[in-house]
Amino acid sequence: MTAIILDGKQLAQDMRGELAEEVTDFFENNSITPKLAAVLVGEDPASEVYVRNKQIACQKAGIESELHRLDADTAEDDLLALITRLNKDNDVHGILVQLPLPGHISTERILRAVNPMKDVDAFHPENVGLLVQGRPRYLPCTPSGVREILRRYEVPTVGKHIVIAGRSDIVGKPLANMLLTRGADGDATVTVCHSKTSDLAEITRTADILVAAIGRPRMLTAEMIKPGAVVVDVGINRTEDGLVGDVDFDGAKEIASHITPVPRGVGPMTVTMLLFNTLQAARLQAF
Ligand code: NDP
Repeated sequence: MTAIILDGKQLAQDMRGELAEEVTDFFENNSITPKLAAVLVGEDPASEVYVRNKQIACQKAGIESELHRLDADTAEDDLLALITRLNKDNDVHGILVQLPLPGHISTERILRAVNPMKDVDAFHPENVGLLVQGRPRYLPCTPSGVREILRRYEVPTVGKHIVIAGRSDIVGKPLANMLLTRGADGDATVTVCHSKTSDLAEITRTADILVAAIGRPRMLTAEMIKPGAVVVDVGINRTEDGLVGDVDFDGAKEIASHITPVPRGVGPMTVTMLLFNTLQAARLQAF
């Protein structure tokens, strides 16, 4: 058996077309162009690429974007002052602080400073709390991209056992909360694994849907996957062979029913969901 490829790149492209139409309608009805302000501190090469991709994607969707570049040795107070200014700027609907921040800056303090209405990454404690309560204002971008892939490829979650490998605040934990939510896009039984989980393979082999968000190249192998399971690989690892996921794709695709590739899987969906959140932020702030 060779798995159906869950083509996140194609899906993201289709969704960005839909988004561009929604942005045009929003402008025609309200004379407002959604705007995203990105903040990049330091010169981390991966962060540079991510921010550039987000800006290009904004441009193509008709969303305005501006980039605030700060030196790696910027003081925390100066960064906070910039965020305060962006919070007050009525033309800015979404604020994105590209992570990771340099070590001398408290990420927690910075993310808490972003106006929750402009928090399009959904990292602010208020937005995390709303998500946990099952009434999200914004959905965090990567988990939302995973859920959208499942939805659009008509992979049901109701009653399924979903195993998520990884418990980060950015991927594993919010995704678990989303999949636990009552309703057609949730209602799953969710198990979250991490580095202290005993016998990871025993648990992953019980998954109807297995989500890998670990950051270890090709760690989840075919033997750890139940035949016919749906595999979603969030991992992005730079190796000598180029970008690879957390799943051993070549082996896994022979046993899974559906699988996301890396690249062309979850990555492009993450950016797409950020754009949708920016439009949503403009809507919420317009009325
Ligand atoms: P983190 O490093 O924040 O979290 C990794 C998680 O994996 C932790 O919970 C950790 O456990 C767990 N883990 C590590 N080693 C093992 C192990 N041997 N067995 C079981 N669990 C383990 O990573 P992120 O969540 O930020 O990212 C995960 C991956 O997803 C990375 O490759 C990252 O590049 C990628 N990513 C991709 C995105 C996309 O758009 N496609 C967006 C964000 C991330 P513990 O908590 O115990 O340390």
